[in-house]
Amino acid sequence: MLRKQAVFDRETFLTLPDLPSRLKLWGEDRELEDFLVKKAFMINPIPSSVARADGEVKIAVVGSGPAGLGSADELTRLGFKVTVFERDDRPGGLLMYGVPNIKLPKNIVMQKIEALQDAGVEFRLQTEIGKQVTFADLQKEFAAIIVCVGSTSPRRLKMIRDDAKGVYYAKDFLTYVTKEMFEQNTSVPADTAGKDVVIIGGGDTGIDCAAVAFAQGARSILQLELRECEMTGKTQDGFCELVSSDPTLSYGTILQDVLYDDNGFVKGVRIAKVEWISSASGSLPKPQLIEGSESEIPAQLLLLATGFTGPEPAVFSTFAFNKTPVGTIAKGSGYFDTSRAGVFAAGDARRGQGVVEWAFAEGRNAAVECAEYLHALKK
Ligand SMILES: Cc1cc2nc3c(=O)[nH]c(=O)nc-3n(C[C@H](O)[C@H](O)[C@H](O)COP(=O)(O)OP(=O)(O)OC[C@H]3O[C@@H](n4cnc5c(N)ncnc54)[C@H](O)[C@@H]3O)c2cc1C
Repeated sequence: MLRKQAVFDRETFLTLPDLPSRLKLWGEDRELEDFLVKKAFMINPIPSSVARADGEVKIAVVGSGPAGLGSADELTRLGFKVTVFERDDRPGGLLMYGVPNIKLPKNIVMQKIEALQDAGVEFRLQTEIGKQVTFADLQKEFAAIIVCVGSTSPRRLKMIRDDAKGVYYAKDFLTYVTKEMFEQNTSVPADTAGKDVVIIGGGDTGIDCAAVAFAQGARSILQLELRECEMTGKTQDGFCELVSSDPTLSYGTILQDVLYDDNGFVKGVRIAKVEWISSASGSLPKPQLIEGSESEIPAQLLLLATGFTGPEPAVFSTFAFNKTPVGTIAKGSGYFDTSRAGVFAAGDARRGQGVVEWAFAEGRNAAVECAEYLHALKK
């Protein structure tokens, strides 16, 4: 298990030999940490017109990611008694089980959670709404509910067999890595050490996976992205020039097939290069296969960082929410309300896959709308 410790620690990570420049940039980026430490819990959008509650009115927040934390913080400041329900064993959503520790040390997340607990917020962990507690239970106990369950349905790829071994969604892989850090469990099924690792998807989640695989001591890493670098918006600081000769990242590359051995273990991928061609009529460019560019790459671990399609189907059956055409929770007549009276939604579950800062803001603003709703009911 080469370099095991480096997986968890930014300082060690940055000293690793042969660290590709793009992963060095990734490791040096403290934007998210700065946001959490300096800004996330200081923003206060509460309009002066919103009346404070007296600490007796109970509100449930479902999900403890940044949207849930933003809601809990704002509601507490407004004088409500807040209980956050989280199905996982630790709070924080993707801040805990998503963003790797190298990028966002988990002690920072826990300090913020503890500050909320000190302010009176109760966290009920390993409690999934729809399983351990029903929606009807929540409605009986709480005056209002804010649902912040994230956008956690992974986008599936047709060529992945249902019984495939050695294939993981990025979120599951990153969760294993963080759990291993806490539990010191060395028999993690998704360990990349000594393996050839292929990552599908060139976005930030894919880069998180590439960094962790590098830190763990993967034998080789290849991250694939269908678009060209310039099409991904990652053009700041000469990023595209920087990565043009990086053998661990290949833009304009399509996954054609996944290759398995007789026992269903992934053993490689077939890929090809594409070029993006616009038609004469000026329509959006489309990828076209470059003839003769096909190749087979060995892989004993395949990580899918192909994004998310929306909240899980169970969210819609549990809460009986309406769904938007893009698969998120539909709003009611306000902004954060839903088709269910007294039930609000915020974060990635409502607005689609986004970033931490947006999710926090959504949670805070949903809390204000929820408070205004409850005050209006009293009149
Ligand atoms: C790997 C990865 C890395 C990222 N890195 C960055 C980054 O560096 N910077 C950035 O700004 N953004 C980043 N993002 C995006 C960012 O993390 C999300 O936009 C943000 O976390 C969304 O917040 P949320 O609260 O809406 O949902 P989430 O963070 O997904 O939290 C939802 C929570 O709800 C819980 N839950 C779901 N259903 C139930 C239920 N029925 N009962 C109880 N609990 C439930 C889940 O367990 C989860 O804890 C990253 C995303 C990923 C996947």
